[in-house]
Amino acid sequence: MRKVIKASVVLTMNKAAEIYKPGYVVVDGNRIVEVGKGEPKLGPDDELVDFTGKLLMPGLINAHAHTPMVLTRGMCEGVSLFTMDGFLNTLRRFEKYADSDMAAMTSPCNLAEMIRMGTTCFADQYFYADRIFKATDEAGLRGLICYGIVELGDEEARKRETARCEAFLEMCQRHPFIRGWVGPHAFFVDNSLDLIEIEKNLAKKYNTGFHIHFATSNEENDYCMAHYNKSAVTMMKELGILEVPILAAHAITVSEEDMETMKGFPFTPVMAPTSSMKSGFPAAPVKAYRDHGINVALGTDNLCSSSADMFGEMATGAKLVIHREHDVKAITAFDMVKMATIDGAKAIMMEDQLGSLENGKLADMIALDLSDPGWVPFCGQDYYTQLVYWVSGMSVTDSMVNGRFLMRDRKLLTIDYGKVASDVEKATAELKRRMGE
Ligand SMILES: [Zn+2]
Repeated sequence: MRKVIKASVVLTMNKAAEIYKPGYVVVDGNRIVEVGKGEPKLGPDDELVDFTGKLLMPGLINAHAHTPMVLTRGMCEGVSLFTMDGFLNTLRRFEKYADSDMAAMTSPCNLAEMIRMGTTCFADQYFYADRIFKATDEAGLRGLICYGIVELGDEEARKRETARCEAFLEMCQRHPFIRGWVGPHAFFVDNSLDLIEIEKNLAKKYNTGFHIHFATSNEENDYCMAHYNKSAVTMMKELGILEVPILAAHAITVSEEDMETMKGFPFTPVMAPTSSMKSGFPAAPVKAYRDHGINVALGTDNLCSSSADMFGEMATGAKLVIHREHDVKAITAFDMVKMATIDGAKAIMMEDQLGSLENGKLADMIALDLSDPGWVPFCGQDYYTQLVYWVSGMSVTDSMVNGRFLMRDRKLLTIDYGKVASDVEKATAELKRRMGE
């Protein structure tokens, strides 16, 4: 049965950035088969979904997350997670006591908060890919889950982990809405050249990409200059890594010269504005990337550093770019909505499938209540400005992924938030017990 969704406002994010007031979207199975303005015509077997009083738009794409890390939300205060000290003495210390069962108990909570606040697709970067896969499958969210490989110079570990990574990528190929990616924690610094070659070949074989942290504080560059007398980006080009799509979280310390090298390759810096600010680090040079024609996406990073609210990240990201450049025209609200939708889709190689409401695309969309605070005056306003600066993810009322509703009228349909919140409490209490606190 087709679902015919009519709404007071349909924000398409198509190439012409068309907005229909009112408009409708017709969904057949997991695909959008029609988008139009005015009132829809209903067939005898069509189901009408009436979103009068709501704005319908593409679901948001969170291009950098670590879903199990809700385990330690609130436990990393006063620590910069971008420094080696914060990374080794805080995160790694927690992770030494954590295990895959804890990841299974905590991921669903982050997924629930994503659905609640308008994210329909996310790219995850963590250990325990199989447990995150299962949680994502049950939640019904579209996920790009990367298999993180850690070798630390151990040849046996390299063989074992690359075999497991390949099995994971193989399994993801058969899933209707989850894709597997390859997740080196960081090139060069903790991945040897041998492993990088294996990872590159795996990504190419499975037509997937890399999800990495990159140029947070120039560590790869310092390493490559010291060892090869070349910048990290030059090394990546010479090793053929840039030919593989890359989601590069943070990408703060990239020079304009390196931007010239990387433009034209499927390399997407992912800005995580709240995470950068909370860790005391500068904003990514988003304006310079965009001026070089490099695609930029948006992510929340971990829930120790930010909330799951991508609307909040759009607002913070816009203000941070403007603040960095001392230029109110450095980025527009429309640019920020693009970063969270169609540019995110481009980053994950799904531009032809996601990121806008258009015929033939996958049916991932969200609705927001136009009577919520932040929408008045309704006449003459720019919807993008309102979405970025005045509305939060809590205004999202409905969420659809792959043609299936995951939330209706603010009620989660695939996750029991009470249960998953209780699971996080239990997992965190157990973690603290193991740490002797
Ligand atoms: Zn991260």
